[in-house]
Parts: sequence; C-alpha cells; structure tokens
Amino acid sequence: MSRLLSKFSGGQALASAPEQGSAMPFDSRRSADLLAGLEAADLGWFWECDANRRLTYLTGSAVSSVGLEGDDLIGCDLTEVFATGESDEFDSTSRSLKFRLTSRSPISRLNVKVLKTAELETWWEISATPRFDSEGKFEGYYGTARDITRSRAHSRDSERAAQYDSLTGLANRLRVTRQLEQTLTSFKQLKRSCAIMLFDLDHFKKVNDTLGHPAGDELLKQVASRIKKLVGDRGEIGRLGGDEFQILLPDIDDRGELGDLGKRLVQMISQPYSIDGSRAIIGCSIGVAVAPYDGIDADELVKAADLALYAAKDAGRGTYRFYSSELAHNANFRQRIEDDLRDALARDEFLIQYQPIVDAKTHKVASLEALLRWQHPERGRVSPAEFVPVAEELGIINEIGQWVLEEVCTQLKSCPPEIRAAINVSPIQFASDDFYSVVDRILTKTEVDPARVELEITESVFVGDLECTIKLFKKLKRRGVRLSLDDFGTGYSSLSYLRDAPFDKLKIDQSFVRGCSAKDNNNSALVSAIISMAKALKMETVAEGVETHDELGLVTTHGATHLQGYLFSSPISFQDLLARFDKKQLEFKPRGPEKYRAERRTEFRKIGLIHGDSRYNVVLRNISKTGARIEGLLEVPVGTEVVLDLGDGQLAVATVRRSDGFSQGVEFETHLVSDGDSGLCTRHRVSPYQIEAAGRPLGALTNSAVAAYTGAKQSAPKAFVQIDIGAQIRH
Ligand code: C2E
Ligand code: MG
Ligand code: MG
Repeated sequence: MSRLLSKFSGGQALASAPEQGSAMPFDSRRSADLLAGLEAADLGWFWECDANRRLTYLTGSAVSSVGLEGDDLIGCDLTEVFATGESDEFDSTSRSLKFRLTSRSPISRLNVKVLKTAELETWWEISATPRFDSEGKFEGYYGTARDITRSRAHSRDSERAAQYDSLTGLANRLRVTRQLEQTLTSFKQLKRSCAIMLFDLDHFKKVNDTLGHPAGDELLKQVASRIKKLVGDRGEIGRLGGDEFQILLPDIDDRGELGDLGKRLVQMISQPYSIDGSRAIIGCSIGVAVAPYDGIDADELVKAADLALYAAKDAGRGTYRFYSSELAHNANFRQRIEDDLRDALARDEFLIQYQPIVDAKTHKVASLEALLRWQHPERGRVSPAEFVPVAEELGIINEIGQWVLEEVCTQLKSCPPEIRAAINVSPIQFASDDFYSVVDRILTKTEVDPARVELEITESVFVGDLECTIKLFKKLKRRGVRLSLDDFGTGYSSLSYLRDAPFDKLKIDQSFVRGCSAKDNNNSALVSAIISMAKALKMETVAEGVETHDELGLVTTHGATHLQGYLFSSPISFQDLLARFDKKQLEFKPRGPEKYRAERRTEFRKIGLIHGDSRYNVVLRNISKTGARIEGLLEVPVGTEVVLDLGDGQLAVATVRRSDGFSQGVEFETHLVSDGDSGLCTRHRVSPYQIEAAGRPLGALTNSAVAAYTGAKQSAPKAFVQIDIGAQIRH
C-alpha cells in the first residue's frame, strides 16, 4: 500500500501535486497519509497492475463492493477483471481496454464493466497512468476507480426516455430521424434503396374527444402492436408524436410490394378496436417515398412522404399513396384552392347539380342526388372530390353543408312530390354539435316534407363513439328524414353497425359495380352478397356508377332496387331537370356502351418513347396494367420492342402488338402496379445511382436526367416518322 501511495504522491497522478521548485516543499509522507485517509473513508479506490497486466493491488472496500474477499482479484489479468462495453450502444466509441493497456497510453475516466463480480451488473470508471522505471522500462499501471453503476443506469434510463416513446415503446421522433439520417448516409455509399411510410390515423381526434384521452392512449398502443405484427423485422417502426407513425423499410424499392404492405396496413388498422368495453373504429392514410428515387437525404425523403400522405388524405383517406413529382405540383394548386375556397360561399360560386337515382324496374326517377359544384372564376368547375376535403380541413364544411341543405330543400319544393332529394353530408359536418338543430331548422324554414329528404352518410361516421352516432341517427329518424349509407364497402369494413343503425338505403360503391360482369373479379359475388344482406335488413339498395348495359344487367339480376350512373344520366342542372319535369319525363332510358373495358384509363399526355438510339415524343392515349395505346409514330411494325418513358424514372419495356397508322397498342413486359390512387406505376424506377454512374450528379429523379441517361437522342437518325399531335395536348 505505502509503495502504491508513494507513487501517487510522486506528483504524476495528482493534478494538485506541487511543481518542482515551488514554495511548498515536497512531502511524500503527507500525501501518502492523505491518500490512505481517502481510502479509509471510502472516498477513493486505488489499484495497481504489473507489466503483464496482472492486478497487484486493489483497495479493500472496492473488492468487497463487488461481493468478493481479500485477495480474490489479486493476480488476475486486468482484461479478465474489466471490459469496455463496445457492444454497448451508449458507449460504442470507447476503444478496448486491452488496446489501451497494450499501447501503454494513460487511461482517463474509462467506463468498464466489472467481469469478476458476485453482484449484478457493476460498472466502474477507471483512470490510470503507466509507470516506467528510471531506464524507461514499463512496469505496469497505477490508477483510481469509482463505482458508477447507479449513475450509469440513470443516464441510460434518461437516454432511453429521450429516444423512445413511453406509451408505445416505439422509437420516438428523435431516434427515428437519427436512424433515417444514418441509414440514408450509409445506404448512399452502398447504393442501396430504402423506403419510408408515413402514417396518420384518420379521425383519431374523434376517439380522443368522445372516449377520453386514456382511451386514445390505449388505442395508440393497440395500433402500434398491430403495425409491429404486420411489419415484423422488415422495418423499424417509430411514433413521431400524436397519431403519426413512421416505418423505415431498408432495401425495398418494389412499388408492388410496398403497395401490398400499404394496403394491408390500412386494412388492419381499420378493423374495430375494443377499448374498455367500448368499440372504436379509426382509419389510416399512408404516404410512401423511396430513396434514392424520391429523395436522397432525410429531409427530402420525409418531405416527399409527407406530400404523399397529404395526397392519400385528399383522396378520401383510408388509403396509401406513393410520392410522385406531380404531387409537388399539386401542393401549390391546393394552396390556391385554400385561398379561394374561403370566399367561394360569399361570392356565390357554388351551385347544385342533380343526378337521378332511378327505380330499377320502371327506370323512373325516384330521387335526385344533389352534387355540389364550385364554379371558379378562373379555373372553371372544380370537383367536390378535390375541394370538399380541403373545406373539411379548413373547418368551413359546416357552412357549406348548411348552404347545400337549404338550397336543395328549397329547390325540392319545385319538384314532383313523389321525388326525394339525397344530400351528401360530410362526416365532419355530421359530427358537429349543432348538426341536428341545423337540419331541424332548415326543415322547418323550408317547410319541406322530411320524408323527401335523404341524408347520405359514408361509413367514416362510424369512427369514434358508436353509441353517440347511433343516437343521432335515431333522433334524425324521429324527425322524419331518411338515412342512406353512401359508398358502402369502401370504408371501415365492419358490418355490425348495420344492425343498430336505422338506414333506409344502402348505396353500393361504384368500385364494386365497375366491371362487375368481368369474369376475373369477385365484384359480382360481392354485389350479390351486399344486396341479399340489405334485403334481409329491409334496406333499399342503389347500385352507384352504372355505366354499361352489362353492369345494368348484372345489378338488376342480383336485385338492386335502385340505379344511378352515367348510363341513365350524368348530373344535370336544376333548370334542365325542371324542364324534364314540366314535360312529365320522369323516365330515364339507359343509354351507353355494352361493355366495360377492363381498367383502361383514358389519358392524354406526352411521354417519351425510346427505340434504338432515338427518342421520340408520343402521346399516351390509354393505359392499363398490361399495356397502353400510344399515338404519334407512323407505321411501327408489330413486334417492335420499345421502351416507354412514363416520367419520374419509370421506364417500361414494351412490344408493339397492334399498329394502325399513327396509333399503336403495346404490351408491357412487366405489368404495372397501382399507385395507391386510381393511377398506375412501374414496379421499379431508374435509380439515381445509375444516373450518377452515367456521369450525372446524384440527386432525386428528374425527367430530364432520366431522358439524358437513356442515351437516346431526340436528334438521332430515326427509324420511324414522328407526327406532331402535341399541338392538341392540354397542359
Ligand atoms: P358520391 O356521393 O359517391 O357521388 C357520386 C359521384 O359519382 C359523383 O361525383 C357523381 O358525379 C359520380 N358518378 C355518378 N355516376 C357515375 C358513373 O356512372 N360513373 C362514374 N365514374 N362516376 C359517376 P362528384 O359529383 O364528383 O362527387 C364526388 C363526391 O363528392 C361525392 O361522391 C360526394 O362524396 C362528394 N360530394 C358531392 N357533393 C357534396 C356535398 O354537397 N357535400 C359533401 N359533403 N360532399 C359532396
Ligand atoms: Mg353520395
Ligand atoms: Mg357514392
């Protein structure tokens, strides 16, 4: 002991040791006493090892602190006594103890785990100085130690608290962001791809408001566990705060696979929840962005996913959506809509059109669906699908809804008495406290027979507190109005509410009616099942969106009581309607195509076509998963292989199957997949890494960079004659 203490007091280990030649004389005895006092009072622990790292001394109280006795540790190799925690996430930067000892460098405040201990996990902080004899020969180390187990556990806990969400146990925003940044940085070097999904629960606030915050918390926990179950170890899940979640999915860029996952997540989260005996239903919207295609760094990628999420919500919620450059463009458009929409009511820019809903047997109009139109002074007619979600978010849907209700009730009085009006009610409007009194007041004011008014409500009103919703339904029924469930089958997929909700009518969503006569889908079986169920519940059924004769045949065979769709009439103005009624023309004859053409979307946009070294401009006229029709090249032989540049890095290899003058039908080598909305996209895209390898700077995809990457030139000698039909294209 005294030898060790004299080393310490030799002036090397104690910062306060006086310098040579200073006023105070060097007093090794006093220092040794002082250190012995520290040791005795258990204020400091000391240790020493020899040149072979063998422990030669350790303060007695240090030995007993780890439950050992006397010489238990003396003679042990230091690396068998202590270890640095390389595998420990909070201390991963420390170099190994062995490395330090071998390099004979001083050790300063190193955290080490005590390996030889009878206690549970014990951590010490050690400092030490190498000692050399007068010839400079290494003799070992002498140093100090202190127990830091508790303070370390404490800082570990607070570190954990700073990185994890205490409610769900998922990574929090800080950790998620850090992880994304780190992943993207390392993936950039390795040229790997990585997707993120941003989530937002639809109508979560309603659960919080109606069932209380503890129920909201419980719901979030259940949501987190459902996401974990589905994602498994494919990705890292985090909660960004509130009802926002994010999933990081390394090494996935297949949009087919991502779309499938997105769809399953939406379905799973939309299943009912049971919380303390109450049932609650919520939905979710998902925005998906894939690096490096949609963004290279974390900021860019999150912004892209955010825009996609926004678009998913706009598309009516309960869906996923991929980022596309078009969305960035639409975001500006949306801002302009927001600005103008606030004034639209005051400027008298709204009007109502009516679409007849006819009796399936007589084809006579039974009711009229009121469809809101916004006549914008510059942009023309803006679709309700576009502006209603914006009005909901801006909190002005109630005012607009009231206006619709009053306008329709007033106009209804000029229609034949046997005809009803169906009025769409936004779930937000429905959930507002004064909804009942607004309906009541307008019915009284306009003196319209309540039995002629049908309120169309979508399944999303069932989110949140079901009991409250059903109470309101019953109250409205007592007032005499009729209730109709719109877009049935698209929303919150729980049938049990139909049992208690007093609907008079069920409207089968167009997506089931569309192409229901085609052999390769289940729509016909679903339509049949929905109609039988509605019959059993004594509800009328409307087949929405009937466009063709074969759809008409099918829905009437299955027994739909009412029909609505372009086959009978598109929405028409009130004046046109009155003119018909004046002439007593109550019947609408079905007029339209025989058959529905499978999933062909009509398009009219410029795309690129690559053949050999040449790049052409062509016009895409329609597109389906399997092929497309293009115009703009003369006499392209059947069997020619081409590449279509569909924009945003989407190159699709295709073969010409039909050719007629300047129009060609091409078949894709790999089928396209859904983009989450009504559009289609390629599974994979040209990677910015490929573009970088071709000598261009790394950046998110741009069409001009992709065009340059393909190597084909507008000016290269061309095999086909390009004709300019671009002049007709609206842009
Ligand atoms: P919805 O209530 O399902 O209305 C039916 C939509 O399908 C209407 O679109 C209608 O024009 C369209 N449609 C009718 N027949 C066919 C067909 O044969 N084929 C196809 N492809 N479409 C057909 P619109 O007018 O664009 O309205 C879209 C949605 O906007 C409505 O869907 C409704 O949810 C909402 N909406 C319309 N008016 C109002 C309103 O006054 N208040 C609220 N809150 N929402 C409204
Ligand atoms: Mg409707
Ligand atoms: Mg509908």
